[in-house]
Amino acid sequence: MMRVGKRTRGRQRRLGWRWVALAGSVLALSALVAGGAVAAGGGKAPKAPKDKSIEAKVNDLLGQMTLDEKLEQLQLLADWQLNDNEVRKGIGSVLSLTDPEKINHYQHVAVEESRLHIPLLFAFDTIHGFRTVFPIPLAEASSFDPGVARADFTFGARETAATGIKQIYSPMVDVSHEPRWGRISEGAGEDPYLGSVMAATRVEAAQGSDYSAPDKVVTSPKHYAAYGQPEGGRDYNTTDMSEQRLWNLYLPPFKAAVDAGADTAMCSFNAINGVPGCGNHETETEILKKRWKFDGFIEADWTAVNELINHGVAADGADAARVALNAGTDMEMVSTNYVDHGKQLLADHLISMKRIDDAVRRILRVKFRAGLFEHPYVDWQQAESKQLLPDAVAAARTAATRSMVLLKNDGGTLPLKTNESVAVIGPLGDDKHDMLGPWWGVGRDQDAVTVFDGIKAQDPSTTFTQGCEILDKDPPDPPNDECGSDAGFNAAVAAAEAADQVVLALGETRGESGEAESRSNIDLPGKQQELIDDIAALGKPFVVVLFNGRPLTLQKVAAAAPAILEAWFPGVQAGNAVADVLFGNVNPGGKLPVTFPRSVGQVPIYYNHEPTGRPCDPTYKWNSRYRDIPTCAPLYPFGYGLSYTTFAVSNLHLSSDTMRSNGSVTATVNVTNTGARTGDEVVQLYIHDPVATISQPVRRLRGFQRVTLNPGQMRTIAFTLDRDDVGFYDNSGKFVVEPGTIDVYAGDSSVGGLTGSFTVTP
Ligand code: BGC
Repeated sequence: MMRVGKRTRGRQRRLGWRWVALAGSVLALSALVAGGAVAAGGGKAPKAPKDKSIEAKVNDLLGQMTLDEKLEQLQLLADWQLNDNEVRKGIGSVLSLTDPEKINHYQHVAVEESRLHIPLLFAFDTIHGFRTVFPIPLAEASSFDPGVARADFTFGARETAATGIKQIYSPMVDVSHEPRWGRISEGAGEDPYLGSVMAATRVEAAQGSDYSAPDKVVTSPKHYAAYGQPEGGRDYNTTDMSEQRLWNLYLPPFKAAVDAGADTAMCSFNAINGVPGCGNHETETEILKKRWKFDGFIEADWTAVNELINHGVAADGADAARVALNAGTDMEMVSTNYVDHGKQLLADHLISMKRIDDAVRRILRVKFRAGLFEHPYVDWQQAESKQLLPDAVAAARTAATRSMVLLKNDGGTLPLKTNESVAVIGPLGDDKHDMLGPWWGVGRDQDAVTVFDGIKAQDPSTTFTQGCEILDKDPPDPPNDECGSDAGFNAAVAAAEAADQVVLALGETRGESGEAESRSNIDLPGKQQELIDDIAALGKPFVVVLFNGRPLTLQKVAAAAPAILEAWFPGVQAGNAVADVLFGNVNPGGKLPVTFPRSVGQVPIYYNHEPTGRPCDPTYKWNSRYRDIPTCAPLYPFGYGLSYTTFAVSNLHLSSDTMRSNGSVTATVNVTNTGARTGDEVVQLYIHDPVATISQPVRRLRGFQRVTLNPGQMRTIAFTLDRDDVGFYDNSGKFVVEPGTIDVYAGDSSVGGLTGSFTVTP
């Protein structure tokens, strides 16, 4: 029998899932901040040294285990499924239990009352912070600063580990070209290089060199693989793609995470070319375990083993267990088919003892490396004292300011003038709840600083008027009703009239972003555009500050507003960070990690697309274009973002006109602050291979560096390219370096910039 139980309220609120009875079983349907240079080929950090003696301990323990005990180790249960009896049987892991006293209790039961005293591995989704909630990962990617991701995962690991949790289902490293997909908020956007740098940094920060340390946890990059490209942008939907795209676009951040030492991974809900992620022998066993030499374990996503039945690749629960285990899924989450059917499958020779032993060995290996056998218990009375400490909160504020992107600033609307009055208007202007974003960990609304409070702290005469309400605190059934009434617009206009400058705080709720929250329309929800238009009619300086978890279609916003600041979901220090940027204490320097389309009909639209035989030219009929959009460009391209100062990128120099075998070419470029304020620029280096056996993307990011420059200051930035940068994977998954020309572009976004080229020799 499947073991199922009640979901906790927290889980229901977060995920908005329903239980649906199906085929006799129960299924769930439905973030030390410092800038840093990033060398080309990011994500090649050495793995932490592995302790050889651990293998002997693993084998010794395995030798003592009965078949039942082995199958129990492969079981991962959610908090609400847990009781002392399950633990005594020897289950492997527990997810989403965050009360340190209860964690300690169950660990005592596991270590003292299970026959072989094997400790539990407690796991949690620390995606952008545990108690100290950092900006969402998409925001942190906008910082183009690995230091931001490092800070998030350093403090996130410290707070998580203090409660006794030793594994995080994180980082989420899914590359995505899908703004309709709610989970784009959890990743680093559309670029595999930026995604790889962020993935590797997060793994290193959370694990350190030894994740048995009391402030470290083992990471689990997810969702393996290609979950970021569901058809229609609808969560959990099918993914179908060429082998070369899988390898060039979607797998690199996973490889970077594994190379950085990630010791667990989560297989995904989606099917890739017809084969679901948790039943996929090619991705799980052939690529991850064999080719990348990953010796940790793979856990299934939530009931994903059971969902193999819905996918149509398994006849029933037993068959699902057979498919998943043989594919390489080592641990089953929430559904219980391994435990329920493992014995019979073994007796019928449908799974092997060798494979069961391999899965158990991988899990025990991670538990030994996590130090759980030596230090199974947490000092639970101390756990609270490690949360929301001033250093973490300060880092969250810095991270948020570095993650914001200035999209528009006509006539120097920003920074706001400190000696003039401000009216904060809008449904998100005095909001704590939504600032925390879609994966708030154990963060609490009360911890968050609202925009109004943040601005008022820097300009005490500030007023607040809501204008319209965000009703959808926890998403009910669609349609959502955000800012559905204009009844408060007159009061908003009056408040704007009474002030010198206006801050409009608009966007999405956190419930509209994240898992199972795909949208077919990515305009500002409800009547928010009308509110902008009413304020614009006054002719006053105003800025739209956006809180959202995905690219939005902002054409109308950009037409009406003189200034737009993309703040994403900034986390616990939202209001203070927004105020820092709006008043110019911090000069915004973030850049978009994902393309902002003009219209949802352009989706998928991304900078690193392949050329076509008829490149887009909207003025000529027989070209790749839309007849109803006068340009092929997005509204805001990848890598774009403004500052309160100006920069010039000049003097691209290549160290050689030839890259020989095993050689490299260094590109240097100057960046100068040509304005009157200190500010940050992100210098970006792209390449293009104009003639290859497989059509290559028009541009590929291969280096970036965020620098702070004083007015008039110039710096020379160097990027070294090697064979790994100029090569690509072909349609058999083979990495090839082809001789010929490589074009180089250096600039401040994925558009324009300086050009150069060199030749790759055989
Ligand atoms: C999500 C995962 C998450 C898991 C456990 C699933 O629904 O897809 O990202 O780690 O739940 O909370």
